[in-house]
Amino acid sequence: MAICYLGIGSNLGNRRKNIKLAIKKISALKENRIIKEARLFETLPVGGPSGQPDYLNTALKIKTNIPPLTLLKKLKKIEIEMGRVPSVRFGPRIIDLDILLYGDKVINSRKLTIPHPRMFKRDFVLKPLKEVL
Ligand code: AMP
Repeated sequence: MAICYLGIGSNLGNRRKNIKLAIKKISALKENRIIKEARLFETLPVGGPSGQPDYLNTALKIKTNIPPLTLLKKLKKIEIEMGRVPSVRFGPRIIDLDILLYGDKVINSRKLTIPHPRMFKRDFVLKPLKEVL
């Protein structure tokens, strides 16, 4: 079992409902258990097209037996199930699920970078993450 931290964000539709549904789907994954859930934080969008709505963000601490790349695939599947459509980089989205940390693993593959490359400087990741560390 590994301890893993996930970042969750939404800035389209009913953001709170989107985040809660994503958490429900994550908790329903086999070999995966949620240990702690951060509060919701309202944050300003960083990058992407100007004028996009503000985000709600949160973070989860989970205990998982799902290997990192498989976990990424499962998270991407949840995003698609929830109606996320491909958009511009950093553009608005119904749901965004990121793997922030996975045990003490350091991964630099084409599909997956852990620790998440954009987590260290960003308030929208760090504020909720701090609550579940
Ligand atoms: P995003 O726009 O945040 O949904 O991320 C787009 C792509 O980033 C995904 O399709 C992943 O292949 C890639 N990616 C690289 N590292 C990570 C990570 N730690 N967590 C989530 N996605 C990642």
